Amino acid sequence: MSDDELDRADPLSGLDATRAAIAEACARAGRSTDSVTLVAASKTVPREVLGKAVGRGLHVYGENRVQEAQAKWPALRAEHPGVELHLIGPLQTNKARDAVALFDVIHSVDRFSLSEALFRQGEKQGRRPKVFVQVNTGLERQKAGVAPSDTDMFLEICRGKHELDVIGLMCIPPVDEPSEEHFVQLREIAERNGLTSLSMGMSGDFASAIEHGATHVRVGSAIFGNRAYPAA
Ligand SMILES: *Cc1c(COP(=O)(O)O)cnc(C)c1O
Repeated sequence: MSDDELDRADPLSGLDATRAAIAEACARAGRSTDSVTLVAASKTVPREVLGKAVGRGLHVYGENRVQEAQAKWPALRAEHPGVELHLIGPLQTNKARDAVALFDVIHSVDRFSLSEALFRQGEKQGRRPKVFVQVNTGLERQKAGVAPSDTDMFLEICRGKHELDVIGLMCIPPVDEPSEEHFVQLREIAERNGLTSLSMGMSGDFASAIEHGATHVRVGSAIFGNRAYPAA
């Protein structure tokens, strides 16, 4: 059978291998498997596949867009109240209300106006999602995230003035550089700020991220196969 045929036969063909690779990386790093949360990056993955994934014990999902998540998740979550929903893509300030209503964790807090909008919505809705601050470790112009040198100050605002429940830092390393130096950098910034959660590592580099301390790996294509179309 070719890979394509395998994918058609089982839309979750990579799930077992991903779980095994996470367990192996944890063992190599001398960490317990429980210390890493697999966040299944489910952009473009259709609802019926997600239903199957929940059935296979996958309970934490990361979506990139508020609108797509609103279309896919409310019905599924009503059936499966144990599901945890994370926003891993960029968040527009005018979507803060919907994001606070829908998501348990937001990985992409990266500017003052967004931090403030989340604070206001948290007060209004009486809901306080956990958040990660996204750091642009590669200082890439096109990429979201706070500059590493601004992160300490930004964290002070999020945690102090805006009372956000900041649990850690997130990064997306540049595609054309080894990820390791970015993982190391993110961990250093987290440690000096007393933060214990690190959202780093995707399909291509989650094992290395775990060896560098990742607590949340965001894995899409390794579980679900290649996406039918790219989602920004
Ligand atoms: C899509 C996405 C991922 C997962 O990427 P894969 O390479 O498919 O594992 C992780 N993080 C973010 C922010 C994403 O948008």
